[in-house]
Amino acid sequence: MSTCLFCRIMAGEIPSQKVYEDDELIAFDDINPQAPMHVLVVPRRHIATLNELDKEHDALVGAMTRRAAAIAAARGYRDSGYRTVFNCNADAGQAVFHIHMHVLGGRKLTWPPG
Ligand code: AMP
Ligand code: ZN
Repeated sequence: MSTCLFCRIMAGEIPSQKVYEDDELIAFDDINPQAPMHVLVVPRRHIATLNELDKEHDALVGAMTRRAAAIAAARGYRDSGYRTVFNCNADAGQAVFHIHMHVLGGRKLTWPPG
């Protein structure tokens, strides 16, 4: 049994509010949303951080990015705007070491981020 939180969500051991799934990725609502839309797009493959990405993952990351755009469009934020974020390691506040793209929208997001 995996100890990784997102692997456990994908295995159905921990419930989630699923937004989308296919054979290479899933998307679900963040449990602690930071905006009216806060979805996590997560590959089924366990990759701990962005630093472990390899050329063989290029198509997967592309699919994650296009899925984020599709989810934002489905929620009505295509034109008003939204943000995608990958946190990597301690200074960025990465808490779950299985890569995931945050998709945030539905309010004005400030820049620079905190
Ligand atoms: P990060 O800090 O980039 O690693 O983001 C981890 C995200 O996972 C945070 O935004 C958490 O709120 C979110 N999270 C933690 N546990 C769960 C869960 N059980 N279901 C959905 N999202 C979660
Ligand atoms: Zn994992």
